[in-house]
Amino acid sequence: MPLHIETPIVESRPLSLSSGRCILLKLDALQPCGSFKIRGIGLACSTHRERGAQRFISSSGGNAGLAVAYAGRMMSVPVTVVVPETATARAKELLRQENAEVIVCGDSWQEANDHALSLVGPSDAFIHPFDDPLLWRGHATLINEVVKSGWVPDAIVLSVGGGGLLAGVAEGLRRHRWDRIPIIAVETDGAASFHAAMQAGEIVELSRITSIATSLGAKRVCHKALEWTTVRPVQSLVVSDRSAIVACQRFLDDHRLLVEPACGASLAPLYERRPELERFETVLVVVCGGVTTTFEHIRHWAVNEPIDFH
Ligand SMILES: *Cc1c(COP(=O)(O)O)cnc(C)c1O
Repeated sequence: MPLHIETPIVESRPLSLSSGRCILLKLDALQPCGSFKIRGIGLACSTHRERGAQRFISSSGGNAGLAVAYAGRMMSVPVTVVVPETATARAKELLRQENAEVIVCGDSWQEANDHALSLVGPSDAFIHPFDDPLLWRGHATLINEVVKSGWVPDAIVLSVGGGGLLAGVAEGLRRHRWDRIPIIAVETDGAASFHAAMQAGEIVELSRITSIATSLGAKRVCHKALEWTTVRPVQSLVVSDRSAIVACQRFLDDHRLLVEPACGASLAPLYERRPELERFETVLVVVCGGVTTTFEHIRHWAVNEPIDFH
């Protein structure tokens, strides 16, 4: 039994009307731990379990760490998540709700990750948030469900952090011989490591992340994500943090679902009727979800108030 669920595909009537095309939502915000991440991480964790892993280790204080914690709880495997001191109180609370052991270590993610790696013993499995073929294979199940639904989109819009979701969706499209359907890869300004890589034709490391969309904050994307751009149509789009927040607010009103700015980023080009989407009749948006944002956060960001996450 997979740990993820099959999520609904529904038409967004408000978005279809305002954009003059058919906008489909793949509602992965409804996954048990609030994001698509459980698709790939669920598969990675079950595979490592079958190979004898006695513990899962992660260094993500976001949706990836949460998915590992959820997978561990469901499979009765202990989970350790190492997070930096900057991790929010909410992130730690969510991880503990899933019974994960939370270790706080270091000023930045890099240090937390180094410590996490140093803990990995012979019977432990380290679960990477985006750079692992097992993850991509798990994320590809999203496309199986689209095919099964009978809808055939002309384009697929999704958010890019480290590029795991993109690599998984591309793999799923390949599996069903849907290689000609373009992927529109969206990032926020200040977290646009995929955009930088596409422009340079090689992996680029950003010196820092300045976007509020922390789930998109990988300084460098995985090679696989860039590789896909050379063998299939992929278009990179960058939106502002503001656009992502406004999209979150509008989406909450339209569909009564609260999502992170990382997900609002993918909704923003539709709400803003970006010209890059004009040529498509049916557009499917991966509503990737995310649980690190509350209504209070959105409200604060919307009026430009600083947020004390602790
Ligand atoms: C992880 C995540 C992303 C980015 O996915 P990558 O596989 O890192 O590209 C986007 N949105 C949400 C909500 C996420 O949790």
